[in-house]
Amino acid sequence: MNIKQLDNEYIAHTYGRFPVALVKGEGSLVWDDEGKEYIDLAAGIAVNTFGYSDKIWAEAVAKQAGVLQHTSNLYYSEPCALLAEQLCKRTGMKKVFFSNSGAEANECAVKVARKYAADKKGADYYTIVTLKNSFHGRTLTTLAATGQDVFHKDFTPLTPGFVSVTVGDLAEAEEVFKTAKCAGMLIEPIQGEGGVMPLPADYVKGLAELCEKYDVLLMCDEVQSGNGRSGKLYAYMNYGISPDVVSTAKGLAGGLPLGATLLSEKVENVLTPGSHGSTFGGNPVCAAAALSILNRLDDEFLNGVQRKSKLIFDALTGQPGIISVDGMGLMIGIKTEKDAGEVIAECMKNGVLPIKAKDKVRLLPALNIPDELLIKALDVIKEAVK
Ligand SMILES: *Cc1c(COP(=O)(O)O)cnc(C)c1O
Repeated sequence: MNIKQLDNEYIAHTYGRFPVALVKGEGSLVWDDEGKEYIDLAAGIAVNTFGYSDKIWAEAVAKQAGVLQHTSNLYYSEPCALLAEQLCKRTGMKKVFFSNSGAEANECAVKVARKYAADKKGADYYTIVTLKNSFHGRTLTTLAATGQDVFHKDFTPLTPGFVSVTVGDLAEAEEVFKTAKCAGMLIEPIQGEGGVMPLPADYVKGLAELCEKYDVLLMCDEVQSGNGRSGKLYAYMNYGISPDVVSTAKGLAGGLPLGATLLSEKVENVLTPGSHGSTFGGNPVCAAAALSILNRLDDEFLNGVQRKSKLIFDALTGQPGIISVDGMGLMIGIKTEKDAGEVIAECMKNGVLPIKAKDKVRLLPALNIPDELLIKALDVIKEAVK
């Protein structure tokens, strides 16, 4: 059996896979099992921050794998301590909890909010407010946080204590803060799976004020928007807010599984020994990989991300067949007149790999995609949407 047949036979059918088997990559280029070359515009799903088999990243990974690949969290280890230091220094947050995925990073955020509220206001203050059209993960708790019914179907009852409100409606959020006993508010500064929509700036500011007023933790899910993707290190930095908790994963370790939940001063000591844990969380190889990524996400590099972003907006906005271009940094959603699936299939035929977000074509290229490749890929998209 070939790769596709084996996969169909033995892997649970949870993914609607594209008919392509990828076998190797270099930078923003990737090849399938028939030797066809593609320009990758998804970077995993916002995971391969510096593209495929990046030299500096691969060296950091190989070096750590050859020295100490895992210790339990019963011992100290250097890579994860150094990474936590860098994350705190770059964000002003005070502590980090490491896990393995976005869903787990959000689970940790929810636990922090509930324990903060239980310690301070009482155990009945457990409600977590989220936004309609959000996406926070696939565990039963993060599904409960996800404000899209399609993900809930067939899996109820979900974890209780979640309410979702409409983006842009501050009065609705305030009403919930007043009437439900709330612990935290969880938002994606840029809704990813919901169609790549940055939240309106005045709404985010307003929410931050309401959270302060009602002593509800403001928590940003930066699983997709974090780690340089928005053109700032974290997307909340585009909004001038100071969240109490930030969760991230996807691009953090550039292709290895690592989640992180960053805790501000207000909540740095909420979690106590025994209250949370993870066997693989903070794995030294993943942490070394993340350090090699974070060290390179400096201001100059992030300015480059913003420049590439502008290049995309300028190339696509107003083009025939394109209704709108939304997003921030290198996290972009394109609404097309044609069906997004058709556009993607056409792009694939012509050697370009975008993905979908709802009914949009979504671009999440490696943050260091060379301009020449980006321009070439945009030309293919412009043809495909006509
Ligand atoms: C992908 C994603 C998640 C889930 O991350 P996993 O690593 O798949 O668990 C959570 N929140 C957001 C915003 C995401 O984009």
